Amino acid sequence: MDWIQREREVLINLYSRQNVVLERGKGCYLYDTEGKRYLDLVAGIATVSIGHCNPLFIEKIKNQLDKLIHTSNLYYTIPQIQLAEKLREITNMDKFFFCNSGAESVEASLKFARKVTRKKKFIAFTGSFHGRTFGALSVTFKQRFREPFKPLLDHVIFCEFNDPDELSKHVDDETAAVILELVQGEAGVYPATQEFVKAIFELKDEYDFVVIFDEVQTGFGRTGSWFAKDHFNVRPDIMTMAKAMGSGIPIGCTAVTNEVAEKLEPGDHASTFGGNPLACTASLATIEIMENQNLIENSRKMGEYFRKKLSEIFIEVRGLGLMIGCHARNAYSIVEKSLSRGLLVNATSEDTLRFVPPLIIGKEEVDFAIDVLEEVVKG
Ligand SMILES: *Cc1c(COP(=O)(O)O)cnc(C)c1O
Repeated sequence: MDWIQREREVLINLYSRQNVVLERGKGCYLYDTEGKRYLDLVAGIATVSIGHCNPLFIEKIKNQLDKLIHTSNLYYTIPQIQLAEKLREITNMDKFFFCNSGAESVEASLKFARKVTRKKKFIAFTGSFHGRTFGALSVTFKQRFREPFKPLLDHVIFCEFNDPDELSKHVDDETAAVILELVQGEAGVYPATQEFVKAIFELKDEYDFVVIFDEVQTGFGRTGSWFAKDHFNVRPDIMTMAKAMGSGIPIGCTAVTNEVAEKLEPGDHASTFGGNPLACTASLATIEIMENQNLIENSRKMGEYFRKKLSEIFIEVRGLGLMIGCHARNAYSIVEKSLSRGLLVNATSEDTLRFVPPLIIGKEEVDFAIDVLEEVVKG
């Protein structure tokens, strides 16, 4: 309790934290200051996909720490180039800008869209979440997040998610970009429909705007493919990434096509820390571990198994791979009761649970989680 009192003295009251002080982690498990073990189905919010404190990850970072941590982008550094080459392989995008968070990757995407189209209008969707900085917040739907900070960016319109007809009424020749999450995360895990995504690209052909996929949460295997876009068989003009990209070492990225990259030049955007050798090494190690341990396949398989088991407890279970949401009454109370039974889960609202466990999770862990949830919900 001491730590929690001390926190109240010195940290700005911006988070509703769970009543636990976490001290160390191993694989799918976290341990508090009393040594109590928790199965982690949150993974730092879809971030620690390779599990906590993976030994190979630590070794690679330690080696890089001994060599070089930061130089700024005034100079060339090797891990940044290697990471961009690797990302080109797994994203099928052409060129990359590195930053430090999801919101930053979205900021860059909005700036790029304005610069390359020379148009001003952004279209986002109901339920969207793109981050907390002014630009990202301007395309984030939730009133609670927006209201205290107005005025936000002008020329932003929200259309109904998954409604092609409404979208077609609002796109026009002034539209710079349409930005969306292919699976809405903070809204409670709602996948886009194939028809909706198809309609966006048909409208793009007509009005020549930029399509931005925000893959900050869906990227790096979360949905059972490298990126959620792989389920839709389309290629955006711009794609944002962050969360699982560095397994907890802060790194974000804005990926673009050659057509977009051609219209960008020095001075348009930059970041001091973005793409530094340590963060890029963390991301390269993450990708290598994901490949070696077949984590995308595991995300697909375990996601399917987990969803099947969850649907025996909850009425509505949604998602792709290991990005899972379900309708639950008293979600916050389920979170609290699970915590006391050694299970970390997340609620995105009073009636929605979200499960985004490490992608290394196995059947045994899923079965434990299901036992706890069953007891909590039915007992
Ligand atoms: C988390 C998230 C962001 C914001 O990322 P931060 O690193 O918290 O700035 C943006 N977009 C989506 C889809 C997210 O899930």
